[in-house]
Amino acid sequence: MTKFVYQCSNCGKRYQRDEVRYLCPLCARDYRPGIPLVGVLSAQFDYGAIRKRFRRERPDWNLFSAVEEKFFPPIAVGNTPFFQSVALGDKLGFGNVWIKNDGLNPSASLKDRASFLIVAEGNRLKENTVVAASTGNAASALAAVCASAGKRALIFVPQNAPKPKLVQMVLYGATVVPVRGTYDDAFRLSLEYTTSRGGLNRNTAYHPLTIEGKKTVGLEIWQQNDWRVPDAILVPVGDGVIISGVHKAFCDLKAAGLISQLPRLVCVQAGKSNAIHHYIESGIYENAPNPNTVADSISVSIPSNAHMARKAVLESSGFSLTVSDDEILQAQRVLATTTGIFAEPASSAVVAALKKLRGSKRLGRKEQIVLLITGHGLKDVETAMRNIQLPKAVEPTLAGVEQALAKTKHPSLRPSPRSGGERVAGGRVRGSSKAGGA
Ligand SMILES: [Zn+2]
Repeated sequence: MTKFVYQCSNCGKRYQRDEVRYLCPLCARDYRPGIPLVGVLSAQFDYGAIRKRFRRERPDWNLFSAVEEKFFPPIAVGNTPFFQSVALGDKLGFGNVWIKNDGLNPSASLKDRASFLIVAEGNRLKENTVVAASTGNAASALAAVCASAGKRALIFVPQNAPKPKLVQMVLYGATVVPVRGTYDDAFRLSLEYTTSRGGLNRNTAYHPLTIEGKKTVGLEIWQQNDWRVPDAILVPVGDGVIISGVHKAFCDLKAAGLISQLPRLVCVQAGKSNAIHHYIESGIYENAPNPNTVADSISVSIPSNAHMARKAVLESSGFSLTVSDDEILQAQRVLATTTGIFAEPASSAVVAALKKLRGSKRLGRKEQIVLLITGHGLKDVETAMRNIQLPKAVEPTLAGVEQALAKTKHPSLRPSPRSGGERVAGGRVRGSSKAGGA
């Protein structure tokens, strides 16, 4: 770990590590439920010390960690595959497309990275209960990491939360409290609970270390990409914390003098859940009134980290776009049939976005483009089934088989032998890293 202070992203005031826990106390006075968080804190490290001590030959990723390694929970998080997919690039009309597949984390989403660091912080502070409001992946991730660390996960969910994710939470042993109300009610209740009853609140962006945990995906991309900064990274955006975390990774590297430029960040939202997109395009913030989309992980009315996410896109000279539910479902199939990756709809949105950008000149054909896959498709099989037809049973004879085969066109029978995929031995998966493991 390197020494750090918290700095308010709104007023710039700095705080010692244990002087504050959540939002900037000055700015949080202006916060009320129903708007994005105000006064989200950002960990600012002693970058001169990192510059002196960091060695590419033996990278010590703990230099970038805001919690000491001795507090880390015993679950392996991160070090997910990063590889080029020529087949997907060919299909979408781009020559240099790469995938970071974070659906392969323990609870099958990138959010394990944030939960890992928060539970580590819980160990440091001797807090045995970690509290969160979530509709899905963040809560599943918290439940999994808490299970590994022997902590209690207390999770407030809206009563209509998706079943597969609820099953995950309960199976991991979390205490799940369904709330008669919306996600916003669950969020407010979780804040009231930790304020009056204690425990550590893991709500995304509310606790600044959620951003620090998520930044490890950016550090890994840099290492796995042979210490080069990709030209652009496409990120699915709901509450805006993942894109802020990716941006933070490259800002930290730049501040430490390890890189000279930032990757352009492309914010991808679902058309109906577009509060941050609208904010980036117009400069005016408005809640998304009816954020219903098949991509439930990025379906958000009031994105908690809207301000920081907008800043990440603008500072990196990136841009924002939206995709429709139909485009997301089609892209889910394209990704699956060209790479072997079954991603949840939210992650498939980045594939849909890249398809949409073909010929737009916002991304060059030869630029290195990274698609960030944030969650596994098995978390939401029902949605995937809307876009496929399961085959009917045949008579158990060769004639029956031939009849069935005559009706199908096997997607893997394509002429190109250069198809991408997760080839561990083929050299397309870059070496694993240990970017803080969070
Ligand atoms: Zn402030």
